[in-house]
Amino acid sequence: MDDARIESSPCIRAQNNLAALKLDRMAAALPDYMRMASGGEMEFVSALAEMTAAEVRAKKQRVLSQRIRSSGLPCVKTLSDFDWSFQPSVPRPKMEELATLRFIDEAENVLLVGSPGVGKTHLAIALGVEAVRAGREVRFMDCARLVDDLKDAQARGILKKRLKYYAHSKLLIIDELGYLDIDEGGADLLFQLISMRYEQRSTVITANVGIGGWGSVFGDEVAASAIADRVCHHCSMVKITGRSYRLKDLPAEKRRER
Ligand code: ADP
Ligand code: MG
Repeated sequence: MDDARIESSPCIRAQNNLAALKLDRMAAALPDYMRMASGGEMEFVSALAEMTAAEVRAKKQRVLSQRIRSSGLPCVKTLSDFDWSFQPSVPRPKMEELATLRFIDEAENVLLVGSPGVGKTHLAIALGVEAVRAGREVRFMDCARLVDDLKDAQARGILKKRLKYYAHSKLLIIDELGYLDIDEGGADLLFQLISMRYEQRSTVITANVGIGGWGSVFGDEVAASAIADRVCHHCSMVKITGRSYRLKDLPAEKRRER
């Protein structure tokens, strides 16, 4: 068969059209489905339904991945890959209730407290992923980066706009509060943001220090308690007391050395 006839065959033309419409899966699967349809194994309409269903699934997955990336979530973690038996202090029914996202509808907060490696960020991400899947707008920020970003906006005279941006997200996840000290200016900015979200929008905070220790994180008891007050009113607090998952495979004597 010469090139012109091959190029003009209906299958090739259909494949080219599908590729131009960016329906690559359908384009690749078309010859197989055509064979099944022409051999009587499958009706044409069923083949079309299967090919389009695969394309719809792939598109949904692409949109979800894009939304996860733009929310700032560093990776995908879910409650189903959380090893509950390793960390029995995590109240599984409570986490599963939070994963229904009712707390977002009620503009309630979640505070996950515990030492490094116990799974705070994992659980916060899992709630974030669940919210993205449910179509909610999510923003994930490392606490120190958030404070730096607000300071930068303040220096550039666009603080109001930046605060509005963070205040707007249906769910804001502030990760790793307590790892770095926050100065007076930073505490004030964080206070402004938390106040804007108070009783309007949900905030999930992970912290390695309980609220009793926030005075030393912020270097100021008054600012710390003003922030803690607003975070803890309408809040699910989860204290995790187990050991680090990062060290789980170290033998016991090595863990004691650390
Ligand atoms: P933290 O934020 O408390 O310091 P992470 O959530 O970052 O800890 O957990 C550290 C690593 O261990 C991550 O890769 C996380 O997915 C994993 N991890 C922690 N706890 C568990 C658990 N119980 N089951 C499965 N993976 C876990
Ligand atoms: Mg963490």
